[in-house]
Amino acid sequence: MLDLKDALAQQRQQSLYRQRHAVSRRDNNKIIIDGRPYTNFASNDYLGLANDPRLIEAFKQGAERYGVGSGAAQLITGYSSAHQALEERIAAFLGRPRALLFSSGYMANLGVITSLLARDSQLLIDRRSHASLVDAARLSRAKLTRYHTRDISSLNQQLDTRSKPGLIISDSVFSMDGDIAPLPALVTLSQQRGLPILIDDAHGFGVLGNTGRGCLEHFSTSNNDVNIYIGTLGKACGTAGAFVCGSEELIETLIQKARSFIYSTAAPPAIAHATLTSLDIIEQEPWRRENISALVKRFRTGAEQLGLALSNSSTAIQAVLIGDNDAALAASEHLKSQGLYITAIRPPTVPKGTARLRITLCSHHHKNDVDQLLSALESWQAA
Ligand SMILES: *Cc1c(COP(=O)(O)O)cnc(C)c1O
Repeated sequence: MLDLKDALAQQRQQSLYRQRHAVSRRDNNKIIIDGRPYTNFASNDYLGLANDPRLIEAFKQGAERYGVGSGAAQLITGYSSAHQALEERIAAFLGRPRALLFSSGYMANLGVITSLLARDSQLLIDRRSHASLVDAARLSRAKLTRYHTRDISSLNQQLDTRSKPGLIISDSVFSMDGDIAPLPALVTLSQQRGLPILIDDAHGFGVLGNTGRGCLEHFSTSNNDVNIYIGTLGKACGTAGAFVCGSEELIETLIQKARSFIYSTAAPPAIAHATLTSLDIIEQEPWRRENISALVKRFRTGAEQLGLALSNSSTAIQAVLIGDNDAALAASEHLKSQGLYITAIRPPTVPKGTARLRITLCSHHHKNDVDQLLSALESWQAA
């Protein structure tokens, strides 16, 4: 075993120590931590649904009908008519035959990737993909090839035609930069090479596309071109959990084989019940997405005028690149002193030397919040 004391001291010394901060209250774009209110720019509740009174009401109704916990794994008695209704709703919303719920995105990725690959098949994964996809890939014991990010020719070159049939994997929106994977080119390659493709649309589902159907709608890609589509519910939907969408055979296979699905208690039915309301709102209130786009433009215009190094992103995730770990922490502290909550993201979450502020703009932010953020960034530069 590691020398824990030593390892922790080292972590601290490199400014990589991680800490949690208990939020005592959260209300739309405000959070309270240690008795102090902050405008929250560090949440994935993109559409502001987590506190929406309609969701809270649906959640209560669900709890009254089904209780709080599900009581068992889905294959025992944990699967409720609320779960079933949500799966059917998601599949219809995305125009696919079936959907299957998992308790979290992390578990969905683990379950799917470990169920579908033979040992020695080749798994091609974008270098910047989410940690859960990388962990799943390792656990699958397939041959893991990490291609240069968003680079189709790198992907093409690294294809090993002697391997057993494999899978191409990518995030849609890269979570630490906010840029979007070249989905149409990935789909073309997948078809040319006869390799199926898995897209993790955690940061796209609900937010991208005019009607919130995610990255496929954003690119006008046919739903059937992405064999395995994964979305999470803890972000734009404002609830919790995740789903996998695809063919009848895909979903039936996962029900037989995905260990993170089989051996884990089903998510509370009330969560599924509330998520039905999230989907109504996603469909009926496009102004939420329009608001995000307007805030993103306002932020980028202002930040460019300040000469800040931004990631190449048009999505709700905006990164201000700083580089040094201490400097990123100091920037985050400065913003906190101004009442703005923004976290410093450091290695290993991002590559060494690219520590950054990760800002998320949500539909419940106001123009004034963005202006405040910009002036706080300006005073940080001057400090
Ligand atoms: C958040 C996230 C996940 C994990 O989803 P959880 O439901 O939070 O476990 C998976 N993939 C990506 C790309 C994510 O951003």
